[in-house]
Amino acid sequence: MTKKAFSRSLAIILVLVLSLSTILVGCTKEQDTEVAGSDSTGTLFTPGTYEGEGQGFNGPIKVSVTVTENEITKVEVVEHSETENIATSAIEQIPAAIVEHQTVAVDGVTGATGASNGIKEAVKEALLKAGASEDQISKEVKKEATSNVVDLEADVVVVGAGGSGTAAAVTAAENGAKVIVLEKTAIPGGTTANGGGFFAADSRKAREIGHEPVDTDMIFDMWMKEMDWKADANLVRQFLDLSHTTADWLEDRGLVFHKVEEAVQQSHAEGTHAITSMTIIQRLQNN
Ligand SMILES: Cc1cc2nc3c(=O)[nH]c(=O)nc-3n(C[C@H](O)[C@H](O)[C@H](O)COP(=O)(O)OP(=O)(O)OC[C@H]3O[C@@H](n4cnc5c(N)ncnc54)[C@H](O)[C@@H]3O)c2cc1C
Repeated sequence: MTKKAFSRSLAIILVLVLSLSTILVGCTKEQDTEVAGSDSTGTLFTPGTYEGEGQGFNGPIKVSVTVTENEITKVEVVEHSETENIATSAIEQIPAAIVEHQTVAVDGVTGATGASNGIKEAVKEALLKAGASEDQISKEVKKEATSNVVDLEADVVVVGAGGSGTAAAVTAAENGAKVIVLEKTAIPGGTTANGGGFFAADSRKAREIGHEPVDTDMIFDMWMKEMDWKADANLVRQFLDLSHTTADWLEDRGLVFHKVEEAVQQSHAEGTHAITSMTIIQRLQNN
């Protein structure tokens, strides 16, 4: 398959992943929120801009919230240490949803629950500072279930846009198939996007840069002992023996590996190299 055709197939996959995520996320149609009740002065807030802080997945999230007497007009995340890409959707969508529905009780973004909750908590703190009561800012968003059926055709349908699914989709596309990738969360990447390093015993790159061969037998024995021999030994053996083919495959598709001096995992101590898993996903999806 030519590079151009491969890129086109990848573009199709990406569009489908993204649009299907949107479809899945948008399976329910939200109706107008019940308007929060005013207090005895007839207003909800003391107008102004307030700051609030909540706990995200990686640490504190700070927001700035602007209100008029009866309306939340602007919500902005001003500081956070969330993982790029994983939290991006939450940082964009949650503030917009809070302004649209005038409540902090909006849906979180699937796959970025920690960031979503942190933003909502921070906005709540800011609104309480603005003088609102908890009840007034936590009105439920009413939803009406709707069906949104889309007819699509493909040679191959891959369920799950994590590392395995994305690699399967890329391989199918490289072999000329029209591929649809279905992902249930709003953000492709799955658990793969949360990995810290990449295990690759004796990859082509490792050999090129002169690393000593990795003693996979020693690692196999150590891992199996650590797991009291409860893990599937054949699978662990296969993982150790084939990890280099995965690294080579990724490198052939443009992924650049970075050697790590300080070991974060067994394989790195034995002289291989690491790369964050999110980079893998991004590279495959942007290829
Ligand atoms: C915290 C953590 C850290 C880790 N660190 C490392 C590490 O440093 N190095 C390493 O080598 N390994 C690490 N691992 C293990 C590694 O991440 C996994 O083995 C690997 O990501 C599994 O890949 P996968 O594609 O099979 O699954 P996933 O990456 O989890 O992908 C599965 C995808 O399928 C989707 N899905 C599931 N059901 C459906 C459905 N019904 N419809 C549509 N979509 C669906 C999910 O939302 C997800 O996106 C780590 C695991 C965890 C949890």
